[in-house]
Amino acid sequence: MRYLVLLGDGMADFPLAELDGRTPLEAAFTPAMDEMAKRGMSGLFCPIPANLPPGSDIGNLSMFGYNPNETFTGRAPLEAANQGISLADDQVAFRCNLVSLGDGLMRDLSSGHITTEEAAVLIAALNEALSKYPVKFHPGVSYRHLAIVTAGAISAEDLARIDCTPPHNIPDKPYADYLPQGAGSDLINALIRQSQPVLEKHPVNAARIANGKAPATSAWLWGQGRAPSLATYRDRFGISGAVISAVDLVNGIGVCAGFEVIRVPGATGYLDTNYEGKVSAALDALNRHDFVFVHVEAPDETSHQGRTDLKIQAINDFDRRIVAPCLEYAHRAGDVRVLVAPDHITAISTRTHAGGPVPFALCGPGITPNGCRAYNEREAAAKGVLFPDGYRLVPFMLGQPVSN
Ligand SMILES: [Zn+2]
Repeated sequence: MRYLVLLGDGMADFPLAELDGRTPLEAAFTPAMDEMAKRGMSGLFCPIPANLPPGSDIGNLSMFGYNPNETFTGRAPLEAANQGISLADDQVAFRCNLVSLGDGLMRDLSSGHITTEEAAVLIAALNEALSKYPVKFHPGVSYRHLAIVTAGAISAEDLARIDCTPPHNIPDKPYADYLPQGAGSDLINALIRQSQPVLEKHPVNAARIANGKAPATSAWLWGQGRAPSLATYRDRFGISGAVISAVDLVNGIGVCAGFEVIRVPGATGYLDTNYEGKVSAALDALNRHDFVFVHVEAPDETSHQGRTDLKIQAINDFDRRIVAPCLEYAHRAGDVRVLVAPDHITAISTRTHAGGPVPFALCGPGITPNGCRAYNEREAAAKGVLFPDGYRLVPFMLGQPVSN
């Protein structure tokens, strides 16, 4: 048997008045996912444990079959894994945004979507200027970078426990109220503070200001943690896998799972992503792997924009351009189980993530239909089964017991 997971990030939602009380999944045209619900098993599962925040990091760990309460150490360590950075026992990875601060406010968490090339120059300048601190900055894509801090006077446990705030939670808010707090936070605050004069004087920023673009005025550290210990799929289930995603942290979970990470040209994480390229890469990967995980970000991004029309378009595209061709392949091949699911709710009403149960559909050899007529929240709740521990869904698909 082979296995294909198709993840529509944040596509679950609540009923909306503007859709006459329907959810975007109900309003969208999704014949392929509906067919999966009819021919297979559909129901609800909880990818976000009740005690954890509803983020893509937690949700995707569950979707890979890992118990977030036992495996989640932070977002940055997963992104570090994606970059091939392995953390020593005494090291803690922080996410380091290059942000635009102004008038005491968090003006722009992305510094005007600064280019990767500009950011790499700034990150190199920070490494040089802050070399007396136990930190190494690693450049990433656009505004998204990493800071690896080595424990010394402050233990790795304390560094991991510092209370840091994601910049996307405080748009246009006074940032001083949200600087890192707790034991050991002096060091992290010093890094943030000391980054500012380095960036202020830098020619890259002078050029951005001259061109009317937002300058990167500060490093902002958050999302930290020590190395996660995830058993690979080979060790855990005796199978091999591949992951296809435009999102670093999803690829990072794949690295920790021992997967081949397939980078598809033109995979953007938005509506203009290379859907066809992702499908052909996924079906090709099924020739050499037992398990393939395809992640599509656009439903989440359009939800954060609060755009119901674009969210429905993202779901329509996901169904027609990802699910339909994969399902057709699975029918032809005859030995492929296919699972579709989101990793959490991203609510149009609040433009942010929410916990709670979300619908899945699973079909393929050995999966008994349970009477659902369509793939959506309402049908899954009324007729479907429930996995309260969402991380048990993928092991169920694999026909494997879950010990933890
Ligand atoms: Zn997500």
